[in-house]
Amino acid sequence: MDTLYDRSNDPRAVIEADRAHVWHHLIQHKPFETVDPRIIVEGRGLRVWDIKGKEHVDAVSGGVWTVNVGYGRERIANAVRDQIMKMCFFAGASGTIPGALFAERLIEKMPGLSRVYYANSGSEANEKAWKMIRQIAHKHHGGKKYKILYRDRDYHGTTLAALSAGGQQERNAQYGPFAPGFVQVPHCLEYRAGDLAGEGYGERAAAQIEEVILREGPDTIGCLCLEPITAGGGIIVPPKGYWERVQELCRKYDILLHIDEVVCGFGRTGTWFGYQQFGIQPDIVTMAKGVASGYAAISCCVTTESVFEMFKDDTDKLGYFRDISTFGGCTAGPAAALEVLSITEEEDLLGNSARMGDYLSGKLHELMDKHAVIGEVRGMGLFQGAELVADRATREPLEEKKVQAIVVDCMAQGVIIGASNRSMPGFNNTLLFAPALIATPDDLDQVVAAVDAAITKVVGSA
Ligand code: PLP
Repeated sequence: MDTLYDRSNDPRAVIEADRAHVWHHLIQHKPFETVDPRIIVEGRGLRVWDIKGKEHVDAVSGGVWTVNVGYGRERIANAVRDQIMKMCFFAGASGTIPGALFAERLIEKMPGLSRVYYANSGSEANEKAWKMIRQIAHKHHGGKKYKILYRDRDYHGTTLAALSAGGQQERNAQYGPFAPGFVQVPHCLEYRAGDLAGEGYGERAAAQIEEVILREGPDTIGCLCLEPITAGGGIIVPPKGYWERVQELCRKYDILLHIDEVVCGFGRTGTWFGYQQFGIQPDIVTMAKGVASGYAAISCCVTTESVFEMFKDDTDKLGYFRDISTFGGCTAGPAAALEVLSITEEEDLLGNSARMGDYLSGKLHELMDKHAVIGEVRGMGLFQGAELVADRATREPLEEKKVQAIVVDCMAQGVIIGASNRSMPGFNNTLLFAPALIATPDDLDQVVAAVDAAITKVVGSA
């Protein structure tokens, strides 16, 4: 082993190793034949540096809305280090100290829920929830009530079962056939609701769910799984009246409400969880990204005591939840999550997310006056989107090529933003902003200035 020459300090060696051997997520590799792959080497606060030394403001918290407390938090690293030196991993039927203590603190933030099941990705947490639904159907409903309803434009993960509940065509295409028993309900984006839009749209959008419930048969439906705010599908905040009606439908037809908080959880919208913005009471909540803020891999499937009770029956050999996640036994996840939770409280990151979200929304609305290409600005807390249109009157989406050119131009200016995730052909036209919850007005001004310049360059001003 050559100790004098450290390849990690040689940018060209790293880039070539990456180009030769790494298969990056979510990207066509052909351009890497001539363009260097981007390699991020360091982060502090909400700024990151790439291997070529360029500084970027990261307005997407690690690319996929994860690093809520920002980069370089020594106390998280120390807590994880101490924990893994003492006990790094133990899985199966045993518990661990950080697992127990994090569960207790998490449940304090989620009145009405009481049990935490550990896994390590958002997709996996969702699969746990649906396995619970399926087992409840077998055990308590004679095999009926096995169907899982999901919404158009929502995304619940990348595994085949999660894609079976995937409302985003481009993510799903070519990966079928999918698992049976997953049924789609319509989206609730008023901007794209056509004749249904206008006063009372929230109730009408929820009524569309009821139509599906009645068509399928309420006694065949186990749960309704929804994102509180649709994330990658274009930052869709459900309209007024929607959630109340959805909750009523679940109660009326004895359908469990599963809220996927993988993105909105842990302060993204300005409350601990997105569902808490709407005053609803879910039966199952799944979460991942922000839980340990990317410092370790962890996800949780949290349930009410009454869901948990349905598995407590020692007269039935198959009555317990026969599921395991090997890395649900890693202690780094809950050790990091305990610190993230404390940081979020001590630094009032929920309050900052709400205040800075309003600030960002205001700035994006100001940009709307300047650029007709911005058709709508929507979001909650530090989770904001700007839908781009070729024509404000017809709302024809801006071509994806141009949306991507705006993202690329921002990147060239040292600002990383996102776009709805190439999910709906023709509708990948929403710019996404989800910076770390520590963002300041100066950070956000820098982001908005870059977007302003990029739009002017790519489409001109109005
Ligand atoms: N649920 C939502 C709402 C998501 O946005 C994602 C990922 O972006 C997932 C689930 C899947 O999470 P993971 O990539 O950790 O499996």
